[in-house]
Amino acid sequence: MQPDETVTILDLTFTPLFSEQKVQARVRELGTALTDRFAGQKPLFISILSGAFVFASDLIRSFKGDCEVGFVKLSSYKGTQSTGSIQTVMGLEKEIAGRHLIVVEDIVDTGRTLHYFLNLLEQQRPASICAVTFLRKPEAAAFPVQVDFVGFDIEDKFVVGYGLDYEGWGRNLPGVYQLSAG
Ligand code: 5GP
Repeated sequence: MQPDETVTILDLTFTPLFSEQKVQARVRELGTALTDRFAGQKPLFISILSGAFVFASDLIRSFKGDCEVGFVKLSSYKGTQSTGSIQTVMGLEKEIAGRHLIVVEDIVDTGRTLHYFLNLLEQQRPASICAVTFLRKPEAAAFPVQVDFVGFDIEDKFVVGYGLDYEGWGRNLPGVYQLSAG
C-alpha cells in the first residue's frame, strides 16, 4: 500500500514511493537477517549521519543481540546534487580494530560516500565490515562498493523521507517520496 498524498517541500513536489508500513516491514526483515548473521559477535553499528539516523534507529531495535552504536557525519550533497567531494564533519569515537562493523547508510547513489568510508575503515583493521543501505540507485553507480544488505533498489530520482532530506526538510516523513517529473 502507498501513501496517496503528494508532498511539497520548498519549491519541489514529491510523490509517494514507499509507505510507512512497507518501510517498517522491510527494515524488520533486515534486522532479522543481521541478527542471524551476527549471532554472538557483538557488532558495532556505525550510522552515517545525517540521513541514516532514522533507518539506524529502527534497524538497531530490530537487531536482537548485544551491539554498540557509533556515528560519523559525512557530507557530499547540497540541494538535490552531489558536490563531488566528501567532508568528515564528525568522526567516530569508538575503537574499531578487531570489531565486527555494520555500516549503516541511508542511500547509495554514486557510491562515492560508502567507497570512501569503507576504505577509511579498512585501514583500521576491523575483524569484518558489513555495509547496509536503506536505498540504492543502481543506475547511478560510479564507484565500486560492496553492499551486503539493501532495503530497496530504486530509480535514479531524488527522494526524501525516512531520514532523507531536501535542504534540511522532509526527514520526519515516515514513508519515502520521489521527486515528481517536470
Ligand atoms: P553517493 O556518495 O553514493 O553519491 O551519495 C550518498 C549520499 O548522497 C547519501 O548518503 C545522501 O546523503 C545523498 N543522497 C544521494 N541520493 C539522494 C537522494 O535521492 N535524496 C537525498 N535526500 N539524499 C541523497
